[in-house]
Amino acid sequence: MFTPLTGRVVLVTGGTKGIGKGIARVFAGAGAKVAIAGRGPEAGAAAAEELGATYISADVGIAADCERMAAETAEKLGGIDVLCANAGVFPDAKLADMTEADIDAIFATNVKGTMLSVKACMPALERSGHGRVVLTSSITGPITGYPGWCHYGATKAAQLGFLRTAAIELAPLGITINAVMPGNIETEGLDELGPEYRQAMEASIPQKKLGKVEDIGYAALFLATDEAAYITGQTIVVDGGQVLPESPMAMEAM
Ligand code: NAP
Repeated sequence: MFTPLTGRVVLVTGGTKGIGKGIARVFAGAGAKVAIAGRGPEAGAAAAEELGATYISADVGIAADCERMAAETAEKLGGIDVLCANAGVFPDAKLADMTEADIDAIFATNVKGTMLSVKACMPALERSGHGRVVLTSSITGPITGYPGWCHYGATKAAQLGFLRTAAIELAPLGITINAVMPGNIETEGLDELGPEYRQAMEASIPQKKLGKVEDIGYAALFLATDEAAYITGQTIVVDGGQVLPESPMAMEAM
């Protein structure tokens, strides 16, 4: 019942690993032409081969890289219909120990990188006549908190502040912009947080399991369809119910 996305060009930043790679896989499976961007050329080349995607080397925190990323995508694949601004980092540090450099680094990728990616892709998205932007935010920051991630949470909430005004500015260009807010999703980045973190998270989720990267991909796919054309400036939480329990007792009472 949805109009197929066959042949649409989709650029996924941070598409070389984790959630971004899952998003890229879902769009490729739907027949889209996919470009993935990231900084590490080895992971980028391997992911591109696996997905049948085009790899573009770019650091989204740098404006010139974002401009080149948008230009290369449009040149190699014939335009840009969908931007999934997903690249993000989540190093942990308690506020008492956090340095100014830690704060600058996380804002550079997660906030500045999101804004620069969208800005660079705007002309191509407008030309497509049905431009779509899907941001990867998080439940952490906009809804929940976790010690060690106050800078991360601030960046993920900042993305949503950006989203709401960007949606108004992009509407006359025929571009929608929405965000997916993942809970805890199985990724290489999350694996690095260790088995204890994973077990504690699984126990706190009503569905008792972490999400799969494709769960985020399908939400992004829906927001990219023609049928989602009237949805803009909005968010979808994809978390297996993680934000719902009022207290740990709510989980024990199940
Ligand atoms: P990941 O496995 O570490 O992958 C991150 C991706 O972003 C990689 O492709 C990485 O490639 C790229 N990247 C990082 N910094 C970049 C930069 N400055 N420029 C270009 N690419 C960059 O992380 P993930 O778990 O998939 O997270 C992806 C997004 O989901 C992030 O925005 C994160 O905040 C969000 N999220 C994740 C979870 C979760 O449970 N995993 C939950 C909520 C939200 P390079 O390192 O090669 O550049």
